[in-house]
Amino acid sequence: MSDCIFCKIVAGELSSHKVYEDDETLAFLDIHPVQPGHTLVVPKRHAKNIFEISPENWASVAETVRRVAIALERGTGAHGVNIMMNNREYAGQVVEHAHVHLIPRFKGDGLTLWPHGTYKEGEAEEMKRKIAAQF
Ligand code: 5GP
Ligand code: ZN
Repeated sequence: MSDCIFCKIVAGELSSHKVYEDDETLAFLDIHPVQPGHTLVVPKRHAKNIFEISPENWASVAETVRRVAIALERGTGAHGVNIMMNNREYAGQVVEHAHVHLIPRFKGDGLTLWPHGTYKEGEAEEMKRKIAAQF
């Protein structure tokens, strides 16, 4: 993908702070970190999102995420790590090359996660049925 910024980073046409790379994946620092050390893991082969990536490439990305999480926690002295992926525009995806965010977390860092709700009567059962029916 010639106009994809993450493909350009993979190709070395755009600079980045690389923290890890293997044949299938690359990990580099997010240019606008939620916290210092915020890292992105991408497949080297272009895929838009979780819906388009091949099972093989996703397996490689998942393993790199696991390894980077360990390095990130040890390297930054973090007390935990959030792992997250935005898929499609309405889920907050801006860069259309699949990527997983790893964000180091520290005791008392003040970052808040999503608010939690509650299910109405019968709603959890209905949701479970709709999702499970897709397999
Ligand atoms: P998204 O919202 O698509 O899940 O996240 C895209 C992320 O890519 C953002 O956190 C943004 O800061 C990061 N980003 C965008 N452009 C660049 C870039 O040129 N270099 C790097 N290292 N990160 C980028
Ligand atoms: Zn790309």
